[in-house]
Amino acid sequence: MVEVLPVRAFSDNYIWMLIDASKQFAACVDPGDAKPVNQFLEQHRLKLSHILLTHHHFDHTGGVSSLVQQHQPMLFGPATETLPCQPVKLVEGDKIQLETHQLELSILDLPGHTAGHIAYYGAGKLFCGDTLFACGCGRLFEGTPEQMHHSLSKLAALPENTEVYCTHEYTQSNIQFALAVEPDNPDLQKQQHWVEQQRNKDLPTLPSNIGLEKATNPFLRCDENTIKAAANRYAGKTLDSPVAVFSAIRKWKDSF
Ligand code: ZN
Ligand code: FE
Repeated sequence: MVEVLPVRAFSDNYIWMLIDASKQFAACVDPGDAKPVNQFLEQHRLKLSHILLTHHHFDHTGGVSSLVQQHQPMLFGPATETLPCQPVKLVEGDKIQLETHQLELSILDLPGHTAGHIAYYGAGKLFCGDTLFACGCGRLFEGTPEQMHHSLSKLAALPENTEVYCTHEYTQSNIQFALAVEPDNPDLQKQQHWVEQQRNKDLPTLPSNIGLEKATNPFLRCDENTIKAAANRYAGKTLDSPVAVFSAIRKWKDSF
């Protein structure tokens, strides 16, 4: 049994810490800052065994060099991106073993936010960086709408109870947008209520899960009639494919 806990960094990043059953080791995902990771390790008396990187952005990699120097963890990252400290290069289909955690993780290629973005998936948990957010998705900095739509479709095909560990606390603003697209979605209304309670208590709204995202996330619902109609209204024309619908609502969100 692996326990997953968040470490906060910057204004809204989470660095997810995977703790092994004997509570000796932690692996971390996307350490943008070393300081809060070191505090967490000291507080919980854990040794940093692995660093897993999803993509090259600084808010996900800024702490890598100093953590590698201090702790010598195994370092993994996407094969096609430029990253600090030469990680083991991963592509879709690869599997990695975290022996300390008795955990196997499979790699998924998720181009869209960046060109080489990957996710780690195993034991019913998904670490998807800036690709899928609760009720939202990452901006298209390096990829096309086609690529991002395909990447999100891969994630939507995972079992519904898969826990989704995204890297940012964007849920509240994402829900505001999702409600503008789909005001009458009862699952979304319910989720808004819960998210507000969590945030009022300064608690995370993550992890989410794939079932909930399929019910509430407009970017996973591009073939639903409600989303299609809203996207058509936004675009001022009839959009003829789920990718066109995705592209329209992504554009809409960018200027929301
Ligand atoms: Zn990013
Ligand atoms: Fe980010």
